[in-house]
Amino acid sequence: MNTDFIQELGLEADNDGTSTGRQGHHNTEAHISSHSPVDGAQIGRVSITTPEQYEAVINQATEAFRHWRTVPAPRRGEIVRQYGEALREHKDALGRLVSYEMGKSLQEGWGEVQEMIDICDFAVGLSRQLHGLTMHSERPLHRMYEQYHPLGIVGVISAFNFPVAVWSWNAMIALVCGDVVVWKPSEKAPLCGVACQNIWAKVAADNDLPEGISNLVNGDYTIGELMTQDKRIPLISATGSTRMGKAVAQTVAARLGKSLLELGGNNAIIITPSADMDLVLTGALFGAVGTCGQRCTSTRRLIIHESRYEEVRDKLAKAYGQLKIGDPLDEKNHVGPLIDEQSVETYLQAIEGIKNEGGKMVVEGGRIDGLGSNCYVKPCIAEVEPDSEMAQQETFAPILYLMKYRDLDEAIEIQNSVPQGLSSAIMTTNLRESERFLSPTGSDCGIANVNIGTSGAEIGGAFGGEKETGGGRESGSDAWKVYMRRQTNTINYSTELPLAQGISFNL
Ligand code: NAD
Repeated sequence: MNTDFIQELGLEADNDGTSTGRQGHHNTEAHISSHSPVDGAQIGRVSITTPEQYEAVINQATEAFRHWRTVPAPRRGEIVRQYGEALREHKDALGRLVSYEMGKSLQEGWGEVQEMIDICDFAVGLSRQLHGLTMHSERPLHRMYEQYHPLGIVGVISAFNFPVAVWSWNAMIALVCGDVVVWKPSEKAPLCGVACQNIWAKVAADNDLPEGISNLVNGDYTIGELMTQDKRIPLISATGSTRMGKAVAQTVAARLGKSLLELGGNNAIIITPSADMDLVLTGALFGAVGTCGQRCTSTRRLIIHESRYEEVRDKLAKAYGQLKIGDPLDEKNHVGPLIDEQSVETYLQAIEGIKNEGGKMVVEGGRIDGLGSNCYVKPCIAEVEPDSEMAQQETFAPILYLMKYRDLDEAIEIQNSVPQGLSSAIMTTNLRESERFLSPTGSDCGIANVNIGTSGAEIGGAFGGEKETGGGRESGSDAWKVYMRRQTNTINYSTELPLAQGISFNL
């Protein structure tokens, strides 16, 4: 394999996992070895941040914040613009690294970097629009308004499956808001973090920025815990499993910090009698097998009207037969590997679970040997009852559940019956059905789509979900407000001091 992209991104055999932006801090003792799920090769090692190094990073970040919050927001936007330009320059290389370290298809690796570029563009515009409101005061000759100030250090803890985009959703918005960022990437994709930080270091040096604005720490959940317990970090933005989110939420709440949680999904498409079958097939197929079923928005359940059930099942089974599985850097393949052997185990156990509860495999699953690593599996389809135990859970793998419904109320009830609430979709050409789905009594998810699948969100909208997905919103719309503190100001330009609510207080 041609690994020029690794050199282009400044990666070496041994990399500094701790960095405040200009130079790394190397720890010679403990490392994370990053092995590619594509071919099992060791791509490189990343040093694990020690508690002492963590302290130094937080001190540097605290110092940098004192400066960064005073830089005018449009100037901060200019730095983010330059970061976006640098990403454009390295889009090919970074996309290849994402694909090689995480295992998603090259198209999706490039797509992830494009999403970073898009959020940079969005943040640049936002840097001139961080505006509050003005209100009418009830007191004469008074003015009242609200404004948004930078918050401080934003801690970002991210998952393996979007190893670069999720950081940028947080970091680019936080940076224009005047915050500084400390990022702990997933221990399963640490080199992606180092590569993003290397690109930052060049932009920081070109602009003579102080150290500590964008920071990197590395390690497993124990480094994450240092962050969640740390009173000096007012906001923790954490992306990952619901199990992780529950731990993070409790620790951050115990110190009355803020947390922004983006957790697991269990996303469904409702397929109605009037659905356009071409849209159904493309939406369901990409949603279920894209990223080998390892997107938080992956389609896990199809809730199909009984009149279309056999048709959808048979056409999908045929389409699954045409999927090409293999090296994700080879563009003719649709599906790459799972992230590691532990994930393969979890997938195999889920298939056992489906069979044990009486589910029927429409397309059989299983491990595929001889493809370069032990992480390749077959995307599979199972018919289950709507109340299936297995279909209540998020198994982070390409398993698609099919279930039948009779009327739309029942379909919406099935769709909402799972603990998670991230993404949902309806396939219909009937206006009444789509509006019912989008009404307050329809989908209970943070994302509800009509005639597109559940996966693949645009950065312009606020992204996130309800219930066990954690309630956070990131990226577009007004999600930036979470990264700032709101201040209400009342100014008296009269010569009197009237009290609110007409209270009189005279001596
Ligand atoms: P994970 O929960 O195993 O790990 C995520 C991150 O949390 C890692 O960096 C890990 O080191 C850290 N972590 C784990 N326990 C922690 C703790 N107690 N305190 C602090 N940090 C801790 O998740 P994963 O396997 O990397 O990712 C897959 C999961 O992420 C899926 O459930 C998926 O749905 C979810 N996800 C959600 C979104 C979203 O936007 N809703 C996006 C991507 C992934």
